[in-house]
Amino acid sequence: MKIVRSAGELPQLSLQGSVGLVPTMGAFHEGHLSLFRAARAENDLVVASLFVNPAQFARGEDLDRYPRDEERDAQLAEDAGVDVLFVPPLEDVYPPGFQTWVEVEELGSVLEGEHRPGHFRGVATICLKLFNLVRPDRAYFGQKDAQQAAVIKTMVRDLAVPVEIRVCPTVRDEDGLALSSRNAYLSAEEREAALALPQALAARDRSLLKGLEVDYFEEADFEPRVLAAAVRVGGTRLIDNVVLEGEPR
Ligand code: AMP
Repeated sequence: MKIVRSAGELPQLSLQGSVGLVPTMGAFHEGHLSLFRAARAENDLVVASLFVNPAQFARGEDLDRYPRDEERDAQLAEDAGVDVLFVPPLEDVYPPGFQTWVEVEELGSVLEGEHRPGHFRGVATICLKLFNLVRPDRAYFGQKDAQQAAVIKTMVRDLAVPVEIRVCPTVRDEDGLALSSRNAYLSAEEREAALALPQALAARDRSLLKGLEVDYFEEADFEPRVLAAAVRVGGTRLIDNVVLEGEPR
């Protein structure tokens, strides 16, 4: 696996056939690895990007303490079949004088967007930037972040971005908790309390979240329709969802 640290080295990539891109913020777990494997199965060349994007964190969020371990990530990515790990410097993504943003207005302002103002503007902008730098044929996202996948699909359609968006199922731990880099923040007791989130979603029963601070627990028509929720457990904010396709409204 090659580690590429400057955008200037990327243009030659598509000469090697079809390209699959997996955008990430690192701290890899089985959720990320499932995307790498899906990209591996469908493309000649697999690129994973590793960039903790400041623009998608609101002030006061966990940007400074977000888990970072590039060496471990590089090993996991290589083992999962990634060909190129793209680790851009901040100035390749946001050059001096940067002032252009992508806003998916309605979809980006509800649920997560309501509780994390500016989040999806940061997400949509970094993804379009990565698509333009890497020029992938396909890009891979997790259903775990259902609204993010919907925002990206809408941007790609609205702006006619030439990339196919593939969404892969949520990977969970044995106890049902969806894998997330932020699970590392949880103490043993908090992790126990956090299990109420997948349980409430599975049972379609908000009352199981009693005792947790709930940002939302709502159905959303993201194609597929989902029941999505966000809760705070101690200082950690967790999101999850279940697909409702085929269930009566
Ligand atoms: P992140 O590094 O958290 O930005 O996530 C990178 C990609 O991995 C996003 O498309 C996420 O939706 C996806 N992802 C994160 N957690 C999971 C999970 N538990 N199952 C499947 N995909 C996931």
